[in-house]
Amino acid sequence: MDFSLSKEQEAIQKAAEEFARGEFDKDIALEHEMAHTFPYGIWKKACELGFVGIHYPEEFGGQDYGIFENALLVETFCRQDSGIGIALSLSDFASEIILRFGTEEQKQRYLIPVTKGEALSSGGFTEPDHGSDITFMNTSAIREGDEYIINGVKTFITNGTISRFVVLLCQTDAEVKPTYRGQSVIIVERDTPGFTSSDVGDKMGIKMTSTGELSFNEVRVPVSNLIGKENRGFYQVLEFFDESRIEIAAQALGIAQGAFDRALNYTKERKQFGKKLAQFQVTQHKLADMLTQIETARLIVYKAAWNFDQGKIDPKLTSIAKMYAGRVAVEVADEAIQLFGGYGYMLEYDVERFYRDAKIMEIYEGTREIQKNTIASAILGKL
Ligand SMILES: Cc1cc2nc3c(=O)[nH]c(=O)nc-3n(C[C@H](O)[C@H](O)[C@H](O)COP(=O)(O)OP(=O)(O)OC[C@H]3O[C@@H](n4cnc5c(N)ncnc54)[C@H](O)[C@@H]3O)c2cc1C
Repeated sequence: MDFSLSKEQEAIQKAAEEFARGEFDKDIALEHEMAHTFPYGIWKKACELGFVGIHYPEEFGGQDYGIFENALLVETFCRQDSGIGIALSLSDFASEIILRFGTEEQKQRYLIPVTKGEALSSGGFTEPDHGSDITFMNTSAIREGDEYIINGVKTFITNGTISRFVVLLCQTDAEVKPTYRGQSVIIVERDTPGFTSSDVGDKMGIKMTSTGELSFNEVRVPVSNLIGKENRGFYQVLEFFDESRIEIAAQALGIAQGAFDRALNYTKERKQFGKKLAQFQVTQHKLADMLTQIETARLIVYKAAWNFDQGKIDPKLTSIAKMYAGRVAVEVADEAIQLFGGYGYMLEYDVERFYRDAKIMEIYEGTREIQKNTIASAILGKL
């Protein structure tokens, strides 16, 4: 067993670090945070340098690396700035479903613009009445000749108001039992008549991403927009989650590390009662606990990513990584604010933003409780 990064992986990490240090300007980050806007300029540069879609094949604008290298990149970006890091990480959200199950034509049409920085993507699974439970979708796609006619509403969709296309989970057969055997994933382009979107409103964190409600009213798309096989959509989405939850875990890891870095620096500077905060043993223990949590999370996240790249797909491990790293991000960012005292509560000192950005790690891509359900069912099997 060898826990060290390869020379190539170290080089990727260093390149990501240099890019993030150079481009994730604090003032620009705060502007986007306050205005709730996507950092288009930084995203375009990240795409030009091949950071977005690093795990895609070269023919689709990627660099042929694995999920592990992508996780390193996402961790590094989120460590430098949680808001910009998450926005870049989610810029190609759900495109991996096309990569994994799509036709050659779909990959050419949708993946290349995503990696080139010409298009954002989004994945529409959640509905107002179906969040954790996606085994039935009210959004229907009924086949009529060479077209699907789509009706329904999706909510909380990242990039929902700005993506060029959405990868949509629909019910193509509402009669079959169990109902998830009647679901399909279909691509809908933004300019398709009957497809509208609106912002869901202000939110706690990840303010540089748009979160949209999507409405489909008699939306007609060609049958060629179906991804993979009809009525296999639920399984395709679950396979995608095995991969994407590792990326979320990497976001969480980066947020935790970034909050820790800031707290460490601050406690070495700030003086109270004639001493640096870092000289109080209680501070030292807090820092020790925070780092212990981060290093433990890193081991699990890296293991989940490495296993994935070896073809050892283990939903249980992916869920452990996402659940654990998500909790660590929230707890470490919380403790970082505590170490900053009143300054930690202020936008200017970053850690409150890291804290707000951390919380979503325990909600999207399956809540903490849903991860526990996955872990428990893998341990217990059918009872
Ligand atoms: C900012 C943001 C971005 C998002 N981006 C996307 C996106 O891009 N695409 C997308 O499709 N969705 C997205 N989501 C939706 C997200 O995945 C859902 O919010 C999440 O899956 C939970 O669904 P829900 O909100 O309906 O909560 P519910 O499912 O109603 O859950 C409420 C509570 O009940 C618990 N619960 C539910 N079922 C069980 C159970 N069986 N056992 C134990 N506890 C349970 C949950 O854990 C939670 O604590 C996003 C959400 C947010 C807030």
